[in-house]
Amino acid sequence: MARILVTNSEGTPGVGKTAEMLAAGAAGLDAIEAGIRLVEADTSIRTVGRGGWPNLLGEVELDAAMIDGSSFRSGAVGALKGFLHPISVARAVLERLPHELLVGEGATRFAAEIGAETANNLIPDSERVWREWFEENVPAADREKWPDVPLAALCQQAIDPEKGMDTTVFLSLDSQQEIMAGVSTSGWAWKYPGRLGDSPVIGAGCYADSRYGAAACTGTGEMAIRAGSSRAIVLYMKMGLSLEAAVDEAIDDLRQLRGGLLQRITLHAIDRAGRHRVVALNAEKQLTYWLWREGDEAPHAEPAEIIAL
Ligand code: ASP
Repeated sequence: MARILVTNSEGTPGVGKTAEMLAAGAAGLDAIEAGIRLVEADTSIRTVGRGGWPNLLGEVELDAAMIDGSSFRSGAVGALKGFLHPISVARAVLERLPHELLVGEGATRFAAEIGAETANNLIPDSERVWREWFEENVPAADREKWPDVPLAALCQQAIDPEKGMDTTVFLSLDSQQEIMAGVSTSGWAWKYPGRLGDSPVIGAGCYADSRYGAAACTGTGEMAIRAGSSRAIVLYMKMGLSLEAAVDEAIDDLRQLRGGLLQRITLHAIDRAGRHRVVALNAEKQLTYWLWREGDEAPHAEPAEIIAL
C-alpha cells in the first residue's frame, strides 16, 4: 500500500517536512508532529499556534490532538495558554500519561512539567485587532469593570463567519502501513474563554484506525462535535462503505443538525488503500489542500470538492 499524506492549506509551512519524513520511512506520528510544529511556529498562519487569534479576553488558547490508529492511544490538550507547540504537549499526553485529554490549568501544568517551550502566542497584530474590537464593541461601563463582566452576549456577537477560524489537519499512511492523525488550532477568534472546538475532542476533530483509514475536520467545530464526524467517517468505512460513501454518510449526518452554529465545515479523509477525499461544506470560497503520495517528488495543491449543506 502506498504511503499518503493529506493536509489542509494551513499545513503549508509543514507539509514538505512531513512528506520528506514519510518518504524516508519515518513513523507517521513523528512526521506529523514535525510538520505541525512548523505550522504552529509560523506567525503567518493566523489560526494555529503562535499568531493564532485570541479569545474574548484577548488571550490565545490553543487546542491540539494526535491519534495513533494502531494502538488507539490519543493525546489532546484544550485551552492551553503560553506554550509554542501544543501538538508536542498532546503527544506527551499520549505517551506519558494514563489520560487522553488535558485542559486549561492542568494542561498548562503538564506542559511546564515536561519542559515544553513557552511563548507569548499573542502577536502584536492580533492584539491590535482584538483591541479595536474591544473598543468598538464592549460598552464603556463594561470596559471599566473588565474582565469581570458577563461575556455571553459578547460571545454571541463574536461568533461571526467573517472572523478568522481554522485548524491545521494532517492525515498519514506511513511505511509501516499505520494510519495516524494530528490537528492543531487556536479555534474561533473571540471565543468564550475555555471553549474547546472539535480539535481536542477525539472522534470529532480527528480519528484514525490503521485497519480502515482516518479523518479530520476543520471549520465549525461545534458541528463536528455534535455529529462525531471524524469517528463517523472511519466507522462507516468499517461497516463496509467506500471512502466516498463514508464521507457522504457523514455529510448526511451533518445535514440533520438543527439549531446552534451551522456554518462551514470541511471533511478530510484517507483510507488504507491510499485513497483520499476532501469536501468543503458551505465554503464561501474555493479551498485547496495538500496531497503527497509515495513516489511524488513534492506535495501538490488540489482543489477541495465544494458541497452546500
Ligand atoms: N474546527 C476549529 C474549531 O472549531 C476551527 C476551524 O477549523 O475553523 O475550533
